[in-house]
Amino acid sequence: KLGNETVKAELGRATWKYFHTVMARFPEKPTEDQKEALRSYIYLFARLYPCGECAEHFMQHLSKYPPQVSSRNAASGWACFVHNEVNAMLGKPEFDCANLGEFYDCGCGGDEEGSEG
Ligand code: FAD
Repeated sequence: KLGNETVKAELGRATWKYFHTVMARFPEKPTEDQKEALRSYIYLFARLYPCGECAEHFMQHLSKYPPQVSSRNAASGWACFVHNEVNAMLGKPEFDCANLGEFYDCGCGGDEEGSEG
């Protein structure tokens, strides 16, 4: 069966939105258990990503740039960086990671620390 670039791109946009929102809600001062949870999540996310070619590329990025899980800032910055690696590979413009700020808002309001808090 032929690939469908439109569908692949839609899945990518939805996934990146979710991925960056997870990072934006990761604790600022995570426990060792929370750090390990994020690290495992990222490796399983890569391994199970539905587009096999994308998953393969992303796992290569992961082995070159291991997940940073020491804090929310580290995790968000790392995710922005690896997304930029994918952008570069696909010939897309680089996103300015200094502008991450409130860009990824879960809409969860006062529920400050998210599910991991
Ligand atoms: P996207 O890259 O989907 O980004 C969506 C929005 O996120 C942008 O509009 C921008 O607002 C914001 N954004 C952009 N860059 C960043 C950043 N660095 N940090 C934070 N926010 C940012 N497609 C392929 O064809 N081949 C692949 O090998 C491939 N691998 C992928 C691997 C993964 C793990 C994922 C999640 C997707 C992959 N994709 C791949 C899909 C591809 O990355 C795009 O999602 C898709 O091409 C749609 O691109 P887009 O231009 O709409 O923006």
